[in-house]
Order: sequence, then C-alpha cells, then structure tokens
Amino acid sequence: MEPYEKSKLSEWDKEYVWHPFTQMKEYVEGEPLIIERGEGFYLIDTEGRRYIDGTSSIWVNVFGYTKEELKRAIIEQTERLPHSTLLGLANVPSIILAKKLVEIVPRGLKKVFYSDNGSTAVEIALKMTYHFWQLKGEKKRKYFVSFRNGYHGDTLGAVSVGGIDLFHKVYRPLLFKSYKAPSPYCYRCPLKLSRNKCTMECVSIFEHMVLEHKDELCGVIIEPYVQGAGGIIVQPEGFISKIWRITKENKLIFIADEVATGFGRTGTLFACEKENIIPDIICLSKSMTGGYLPLAATITTEEIYNAFLGRYEEFKTFFHGHTYTGNPIACNLALANLELFEKENLLAKIRERIEFAKKELVRFNDLSHVGDVRQGGLMIGIELVQNKKDKKAYPPEKKMGQRVILKAREKGLILRPLGDVIVIMPPLAIDEKTLKRILDITFESIYEVTEKET
Ligand code: PMP
Repeated sequence: MEPYEKSKLSEWDKEYVWHPFTQMKEYVEGEPLIIERGEGFYLIDTEGRRYIDGTSSIWVNVFGYTKEELKRAIIEQTERLPHSTLLGLANVPSIILAKKLVEIVPRGLKKVFYSDNGSTAVEIALKMTYHFWQLKGEKKRKYFVSFRNGYHGDTLGAVSVGGIDLFHKVYRPLLFKSYKAPSPYCYRCPLKLSRNKCTMECVSIFEHMVLEHKDELCGVIIEPYVQGAGGIIVQPEGFISKIWRITKENKLIFIADEVATGFGRTGTLFACEKENIIPDIICLSKSMTGGYLPLAATITTEEIYNAFLGRYEEFKTFFHGHTYTGNPIACNLALANLELFEKENLLAKIRERIEFAKKELVRFNDLSHVGDVRQGGLMIGIELVQNKKDKKAYPPEKKMGQRVILKAREKGLILRPLGDVIVIMPPLAIDEKTLKRILDITFESIYEVTEKET
C-alpha cells in the first residue's frame, strides 16, 4: 500500500465503500471509526485511540492481533507458495490440515472439503446432502428442516435454511423451500411455555414435522448449542441431542453448523461434544485461522463421500469448488493456530474465562432494562427490554442496542449488537483482566443509556 492521506480516509470510505449489514444513509451521516492497527486484544484507530475488541472481529479472533506464530505462518507459506488450486491438484498445508481436522472433529467425520467462508461451508453441506440422496436414487428427497432464528450465512442456499425474517424474508421468492421448526428461544418461547415447566414441546413439533415429511426430506441443519446471529439463543440442556436422535432415527443427514461455535468458543472444541452428537456433516470456519485469513471446511463421513465415487463418465463428481479453495497460506495459518491451541492449553483457559464471565454476569440481572442474560461459553447475549415485567421490547427507532454500543465505544470497547441484544464475543485467548474490563464497560454503558439517559 502506498502512503495514504489519513485526512481523506473518512471521505473516501463514505464515497467508495458499501458496508455490510449497515444502513448506509445513517452511516455516512456519522464519522466512521477507521481501524488502522491491532495490538494484543486491542484495535487502534487512525487517531491512535485504543479499543478492546469485544466482538473478536465478528467472532473470529483467537489470540489477538499480534501473535508472532500466526504472522510467521503466513509469511513462511507466502514465501513457499501463496496459492495453487485444489481442482485436481493438491498442496502441502491443505493435506496436513485435513488430517489434523479429521483427528479433532467428532468421530466418523473423515473427508474435508475446503472453501473460504461460513456461508460457502453451509452451501456445500446443503448441496452435498441433496446430491447424496440423488445419487442414492432417492430423488424425492429435496427439503431440509431448519430452525426459526437460525442463521447459516448470506448466500441464497444458506438464506433458504435461515430463520431470521428481518434478514431473510425479502428474498423468499428466490429461495428453496425448507421446513422451519420452532426456535428454542426460552425467554420468548414461541409456544408460550416456561422452561421450568415445559417438556420441550418444541422438540415434539420438530419430530412431527420430520415424521410428516420424512420421505421428501434430505436433512436437518442446526447451529448446535447456540443460535448465534438469531440473538445468542442458548439451547436448553438435552435439546440438541434430542434433535439429533430424531434426525438419525429417521435416517436423515444431520448438518451441524459450527461456524460460530467451533474451535473452543463454547468451552469444548466443538459444541457437538457437549451432548455427544455425531453429525454427518460439520461446517467450520471463523476461528479456524485464528481470525487472520478466510478459510472454511465442510467435513463429512465416508458414507456420503463414497456415494460420489464412480467412473468419470458416470458424472457422479461433486461439481463444486471455489477459486481459493484450500488456499495454502490460510491452511498453514490454521495449522499454526491449532498448534497454539494445544501448546497454550487454550481450552482450559477458555473454561476458566467462561466461569469467570458467568459470575460477573449475575449483576447484569439487576439492571432495570436487562430482560435476559444468556451465556453459551464465550458467546454472551444481553437482551434489553423496555419493560422487564412483560418483556416488552423497545421500539426499533429507539435503537437501544446501537446506542449502548456507541456508549461503550466512547469508553474504549468495540461491540456489535444484534438488534437490542448486546453481544459479547471476546477473542478466545482473552485474559481475565481484559475480560473484566469488557464486562464492566458493557455494564456501565447499558446502565447509562437505559437508566440515566432515557
Ligand atoms: N453459520 C453461522 C452459524 C454463522 O454464525 C455465520 C456467520 N456469522 C455463518 C454461518 C456465515 O459465515 P460467513 O459470514 O463467514 O459467511
């Protein structure tokens, strides 16, 4: 990059960049926060102001921004080979990483199909599942069951199995049909039940759906343990294993979208481990590279893989592949990241931080406008409400979530809300002191915006 005029960046950002999930009309009326450098768990803007990264750059960062081993893995691989295709060719880091991934994912998952982001990992899982049944001669099987409040990415296949109306409804005419089971959103139970009395009737609805459409279904896709973008909705204990059991009893493909929950985020390496789920396909991305470069993997069983085998002229090939599939720099980086997980005993540290956060979060319940505090490992969601008694939400024009995170920003913390759910998703290797600071600033910001300024 050539030397740039700092004073021009704000103007050029507004003129040339269209930001994702951002209302640009309002964005261009404000002053953009332009990040220039990272240091440890801090992001530093062009004015030299430092912010703790409370969202780990949308749920990806693991060891902070200046981890020597990760930077070295990028540089060394760039010098050896920056890119070479996997279409009919192999490269060294993608082989070694695939072997490593198969060793650590739930047993039975044996074949790694690479891509470069969470949405494509999901697209691949969906296409693979559908195609598997086609190859088996079960041509009628073409629908998936997914969940309300589920989020699997922004490409059209992923949106088809998505369950967030705000993001997905407008595209409905372009989408394929999928059956939507109720979300296990206990705070606002779609069945109006209460968790301490219910018997997970939401699971029974899912079961009926599966039984009713059994012969035309190919699989079930779910974010195990936590529905992330739907509002950090933590599933009640036993939910995911029940969903898995019903899926398998009906011989359907179970797709675990662990794009957000994978690689230690929930305190186990994969969320599936919590209830001993063995998916037929797992989708991974985000933290796989420590958050420095895009990479994703869709990992499946030998049974699914074998269905695609045949002679060239049978055309059973899985005709799918992205240009940067298995990029060697990203794969080498992922290997370095996974080595550090072991070397630094990261999972044990994450578990300590989870316990620490759990204790610290108790006091949030005392705030007058905090309706629900949800924690699934180091995925934390604090739902703001206008009225705690009847759980009445704030009107959207109040932009409460947005106001709270802007307050936090003034205090040196970057957060990104999901509507009025304040999300805390720190880098996984965060130290206790910095995590405490994140929680303190979040607490103060919620208090000031919801109790002092309204
Ligand atoms: N699945 C889940 C569970 C996710 O949380 C996300 C992203 N937040 C995706 C898929 C899509 O990943 P990407 O943004 O890398 O396409």
